[in-house]
Amino acid sequence: MSSLFHQNIRNLKGVGDRRAKLFDKLGVPTIGALLRFYPRAYEDLSHPCSIQEAPLGTPCAIRAVVLRPVRETRIRGGMTLYKTVVSDGARDMELTFFNNPYVGNLLKEGEAYLFYGKVTANFLKRQMTSPEFFPAESCLPIRPIYPQTQGLSSKLIENAVKSAFTLLPDVLNDPIPNEIRMRYSLSHLRFALENIHFPKDMESLELARRRLIFEELLVLQLGLFRMKGRSREASRLKLTNDYSQEFFGLLPFVPTGAQRRAVQEAMADMLSGKTMNRLVQGDVGSGKTAVAAALCYSVIKNGMQAALMAPTEILAHQHYDTLTGLLKHTGTRVALLTGSLSAAKKKEVLTGLASGEIQLAVGTHALFSGDVVFSNLGLVITDEQHRFGVAQRAALSAKGDHPHLLVMSATPIPRTLALVIYGDLDISVLDELPPGRQPIATYAITSDKRRRAFRFLRNHIEEGRQCYIICPMIEEGQNDLASVTQYAERLKNEWLPGCRIGILHGRMKPKEKESVMADFAAGKLSVLVSTTVVEVGVDVPNAVVMMIENAERYGLSQLHQLRGRVGRGAYRSTCILVSDAQNEETAARLKIMCETNDGFKIADEDLRLRGPGDFFGHRQHGLPELKIADMLNNTSVLKEAQAVATELLHQDPELALPEHHGLRAEVNQLFQAMVVS
Ligand code: ADP
Ligand code: MG
Repeated sequence: MSSLFHQNIRNLKGVGDRRAKLFDKLGVPTIGALLRFYPRAYEDLSHPCSIQEAPLGTPCAIRAVVLRPVRETRIRGGMTLYKTVVSDGARDMELTFFNNPYVGNLLKEGEAYLFYGKVTANFLKRQMTSPEFFPAESCLPIRPIYPQTQGLSSKLIENAVKSAFTLLPDVLNDPIPNEIRMRYSLSHLRFALENIHFPKDMESLELARRRLIFEELLVLQLGLFRMKGRSREASRLKLTNDYSQEFFGLLPFVPTGAQRRAVQEAMADMLSGKTMNRLVQGDVGSGKTAVAAALCYSVIKNGMQAALMAPTEILAHQHYDTLTGLLKHTGTRVALLTGSLSAAKKKEVLTGLASGEIQLAVGTHALFSGDVVFSNLGLVITDEQHRFGVAQRAALSAKGDHPHLLVMSATPIPRTLALVIYGDLDISVLDELPPGRQPIATYAITSDKRRRAFRFLRNHIEEGRQCYIICPMIEEGQNDLASVTQYAERLKNEWLPGCRIGILHGRMKPKEKESVMADFAAGKLSVLVSTTVVEVGVDVPNAVVMMIENAERYGLSQLHQLRGRVGRGAYRSTCILVSDAQNEETAARLKIMCETNDGFKIADEDLRLRGPGDFFGHRQHGLPELKIADMLNNTSVLKEAQAVATELLHQDPELALPEHHGLRAEVNQLFQAMVVS
């Protein structure tokens, strides 16, 4: 049977070389793949409606009798119309077909058919244009609609699937073990395949769909858990002592319970003798930097090197400043490594890293370019990891002797989803903000209220506080989006004269960016007009107002990140979202921002509005693509599948038992495409 699944699609009746190529284009090279090529939608003919009650403009099925022979009319442009009238006993409806001479033979006067299409109406009569039709007695109640490609219609695919079914043996090997199928009331594979393609009725379709979703999520989760299992190798980089308490003594504040817990979990990993692969998830402002620093300190005190990687130069600088400050009296050697170092400086850092003299390297991805050699790298931390995918993680851990890996993310996502997206990582959650934080009051305004907003900014500036203003563009362009340079000019000359105003954007030289950021952090600038380069991680606790122009341009999570630049100290902070956009979706998004400061809620909403593919960027997180399951809308099945995956791997880590062979084969198949080279 498995051989049938692997057979080339050409072995099907009606599929020759040319069609086989088209099937290949759809990702269907074999008969097995064809059976797993699920319809994208269905035409439901099982509940035909009356002509009178048919919804206008949405496809529906109508059972009706043909009242008179089809009549042919030629119209301009060489077109021929074919018209007839049908009745459901209560009302008539006119049918029109274009250039289809066959309908005359197919539609017989006095016989009943099911017509499927959109009904339109004018004040006199109801009509359908080019409906599909089937003899009323003989047709399937629910018909599959397949994703098509040029030259391969849904109908052709349907026929190929039908002939594939005739080749299937009566009993199929089901990859899901019997006992689990019973426990979760899942249908058998054969039933599921038949009813996903040709559902007997809506209930059977639901049963089939549930079973296939379960199977797909189970296979995905098994694969991810196995990756995680394999990465838990014995490590030569076992720590012997935990110095995190000592480090906490260096902090100017008392760590939160959540920070302590996260540090403890990561320390336990590194003390265990296995390699750490951990994600720390914490909302903006939850204090991830201190967690990272505590771990770096412990690793260094154990005689190894640590590296902290940030996604931008600005952030790398900031971390560097924070860490050198904290570690000032500990004798730790810290170095900054970014793409913009001078050649001489870079050489010095490289030498220090190779000799082991530099113990802590802070930088951008430049840290992991080919010419960087560490003498004894024990720990790699990446900050704001949502910018890195599975493949980059693998590249990082290839540096040195498989160092411990910690990734930090400010995108809080529900735990079930995190288990999938970060299936290869253990997770710590910072679910507590440092004490004294006040929620950031958030307002959405239209641009005609801008002047009032500036008065508000000025009040804060006069009290010694600072403000950010975010514009989507760098320079003025064709559109009427706000631009950093022009906006800053108007602030100086017109809106906030006398205030010290700086600008920041991605096209400035690293040195310029650095000095502007340093001036802002030191309080020498009152207002920073910037593009979203400040989105990630920047920490200036004296900044209390975040004003975002063209707020409609940003996704919820991005707005939340931007807003997280304020409210980091003890002062009450405000976020002002400026937008003139009228559409409902924008209004809904801005409303959520005004209502909540909770990153988890915002991420949930963002997921709901955008869908997981968009949210994470399919290519970026590097997960295999799913055929039928949807991680967002199938969370309850996902939870069950996660429980089963955990249980199965506990019994049989290699899926070596005969009853698990089917699952193992599916896991291998799903993941073969994404093996990191
Ligand atoms: P994020 O999680 O967004 O990276 P940071 O590490 O930048 O957050 O911390 C945000 C701010 O909170 C910083 O100014 C930091 O010094 C401060 N902070 C962190 N932990 C604590 C704490 N336990 N108590 C008080 N302030 C803290
Ligand atoms: Mg941070």
